Amino acid sequence: MVPYNATKVYQTALDQLVLLFEPYAEAVVVADANNTVLYVNPAFTALTGYQCSEVTGKRHTDLLIVRVNYHVNTDRWEARINTKTNGQLWVRVSETRLGEEWDGKIIYTLVENHGLEQLKGLLKESETRFSSLADASPVMIWMTDPDNLCFYLNKAWLEFTGKPLEEQVGVGWLKLVHDEDLNKFNDLNDLLQERRQYSLEYRLLRKDGVYRHIMEIGTPRYLPDGTYAGYMGSCLDITDLKKAQHELANYTAELKRSNEELEQFAYVASHDLQEPLRMISSYIQLIKKNLETGRPPQETFEFMNFVTDAVARMQMLISDLLQFSRLNRKGLPFAPVDLNAVANAAIINLTQRISENNAKITLDNLPTVTGERSQLTRLFQNLIDNAIKFRSPDRIPEVHISVKEDENRYVFCVSDNGIGIEDKHYHRIFVIFQRLHARSEYEGTGIGLAICRKIVELHGGEIWVDSCYGKGSCFYFTLKK
Ligand code: ADP
Repeated sequence: MVPYNATKVYQTALDQLVLLFEPYAEAVVVADANNTVLYVNPAFTALTGYQCSEVTGKRHTDLLIVRVNYHVNTDRWEARINTKTNGQLWVRVSETRLGEEWDGKIIYTLVENHGLEQLKGLLKESETRFSSLADASPVMIWMTDPDNLCFYLNKAWLEFTGKPLEEQVGVGWLKLVHDEDLNKFNDLNDLLQERRQYSLEYRLLRKDGVYRHIMEIGTPRYLPDGTYAGYMGSCLDITDLKKAQHELANYTAELKRSNEELEQFAYVASHDLQEPLRMISSYIQLIKKNLETGRPPQETFEFMNFVTDAVARMQMLISDLLQFSRLNRKGLPFAPVDLNAVANAAIINLTQRISENNAKITLDNLPTVTGERSQLTRLFQNLIDNAIKFRSPDRIPEVHISVKEDENRYVFCVSDNGIGIEDKHYHRIFVIFQRLHARSEYEGTGIGLAICRKIVELHGGEIWVDSCYGKGSCFYFTLKK
């Protein structure tokens, strides 16, 4: 430092500058026209810790490390300066070149740039906070630039896909999206143009080679000045949730079905089971009266026969009901079942009915499905039995079992040349104890098709009928492949 001396006569240009800058609050460096440092003031020493004597004779670039010339072509710029004890400081530098009367000397004024430094610190801190939060999150997070090219994927995403960031940036990640879901991203374009938030479901390939269902929510990002900066999104693997929803829907459907069954049971109990009971009760009254009045035993025996018939009918209804209610999914041992064997077993069980009616049964080559053998045998047996039972009196019953297939299921058809069914009854006949004919015309309790429907539904299929009244019927049912 050049000490100020009140008695000294300050004659040289430098002397006068020293006099001028000595009391300055801002740090000042005076250099000659070649940028060799001639003098630094006490404020400079306070800022950097360097005494005037330590820096005099050095190049100004030894002190100031220019970093950002943020005002291009002006005399103000930003620099870092080495301090003696405090590392480097960011400073704003203002440079003034003096005229020839001052031998072209250069004055640098330095102001510490707290604001910038602080801002950079805050930015760094905020970036660190974001990436550590994003990486700690179990949710997969990504960011795109204004051209919607991906530049950031968090740890959860990288771990899920098992691929490095470099392979997935830009549009690389799209290779992991299921082919059938790619069009969903094309459909997003309008929303992205309008900078709207969106949610999307698609399948993404996990590192173990399994496609998982992803729910993604994308939100536009903006800079503080309102400029659009791209999108940011979060993604959740919702495969398990979807499975649970699916199971819940199945369970609800099952519950609905069993409720309907319960209603039908209540109906059956109040109507069909009451009918033989009413009969028993009225014939018992008559028998009682006969015994009291001493009427001929012949009539009483006849009444007793009616009672026995009604009891037998009631027993049949109850045993049918029991059979029906025992059909359920619980503990059903599903296994591969060859339906050729199943259909042949059903035909053997119906030998008597077939030979009595001279019926002709033919079948296509049938596939093997996953199911429960005895239930499937019952299904074929009930349908073949009906096809012969509801025969036309004019022709020999002909029954054919055929099968077609689509992507996921087999569609079977049991067709006959019997009496046929009017289409207004198509739905009714699958309901328990619903019949279209009197018992005197065709024997039966009306439970056969209800059992068929339940067996098919327990196997995840559907059953329906198509018929030409007077010509014959086709009973269709599906079974999963
Ligand atoms: P059931 O055979 O004991 O009457 P089902 O439940 O098997 O009971 O059949 C219900 C009703 O559907 C039958 O009473 C009959 O009217 C009609 N039906 C069933 N199968 C056929 C068929 N192949 N042709 C014509 N009608 C049929």
